[in-house]
Amino acid sequence: MTFSASIVTLFPDAFPGALGLSHIGRALSEGRWSLETIDLRAFGQGPHKQVDDTPAGGGPGMVIRADVAAAAIDSIRRNGRPLLYPSPRGRPFTQALARDWSHGDGLIVFCGRFEGLDERAIDARGMLEVSVGDVVLAGGEIAAMLILEAVLRLRPGVLGNSDSLSEESFVAGLLEQPHYTRPRVFEDRPIPEVLLSGDHARIEAWRKAERERITRARRPDLLPNPKPAPPES
Ligand code: SAH
Repeated sequence: MTFSASIVTLFPDAFPGALGLSHIGRALSEGRWSLETIDLRAFGQGPHKQVDDTPAGGGPGMVIRADVAAAAIDSIRRNGRPLLYPSPRGRPFTQALARDWSHGDGLIVFCGRFEGLDERAIDARGMLEVSVGDVVLAGGEIAAMLILEAVLRLRPGVLGNSDSLSEESFVAGLLEQPHYTRPRVFEDRPIPEVLLSGDHARIEAWRKAERERITRARRPDLLPNPKPAPPES
C-alpha cells in the first residue's frame, strides 16, 4: 500500500521542497509515496483566474472563495483520505495524529493564503483544521510539509533504522534525553561518564532519568499525572 499526498496550493513550485530530500525524498523517487499538487489558480474565476475576494463585512486582506476552493477539492479523488486545512485555529498537530495518519492511505491538504478560506468551504467539504503551532504563517505550504514530513518518516521503510522511531521524543510521552558523540571532551565538557561505562542497565536508567528531568523542566504538561494545583484557600 502506498501513501498518496494531494496538495491544493497557489504555489505548486514549493513542493516537494524539503520533502524531496534524504530518506523521504528517496522514498518519493522510489514510488513508496506519491505527491500530486493541484494548482488552485487553475480553478480561479475570469480572465485573471481570481481565487480570492474582499471579506464580507469589510476589514483587511482577502479571503479565498468557497466555490473556487471547492472546485479544486472536487477535482481530487479523495479515496477516504482525510482532508486537512492547516489553520492557526485548528486542532494542534501532535505525534499521535502523525502516527494515526501514517497508518492510512494518504492525506489531502488545502493550503490557505491571505486571511484564509471562506468558512463555507471548510464546512461543506468537511475539512479538518489542524494547527502546527501558536504562530501565524503566511500560508499553508510549510504547514503541509511539516505535517507530511512527520507522517511520512513513520511509514515502514522510509527511515533506515526503525529503532530510532521507538526511542524519540513523545513516543513514551516524554522528551528525549541528550545525545553525545565524539570527541570525548569538547571545550572542557566531557561526555557524562555513565555513557562510557559500558553498563547497559545503568545507561538505560540514566537515559530514563534524563527524559523525566528534561520533560519536568521544559514541558510538565506532557507528564502523565501532573499534580493538580492545590486549591486556593
Ligand atoms: N487570518 C488567519 C491567518 C491566515 S494565515 C488567522 O488569523 O487565523 C494564511 C494561511 O496560512 C492560513 O489560511 C493557513 O492555511 C496557514 N497558516 C498560518 N498559520 C498557521 C498555523 N499556525 N498552522 C497551520 N496553518 C497555518
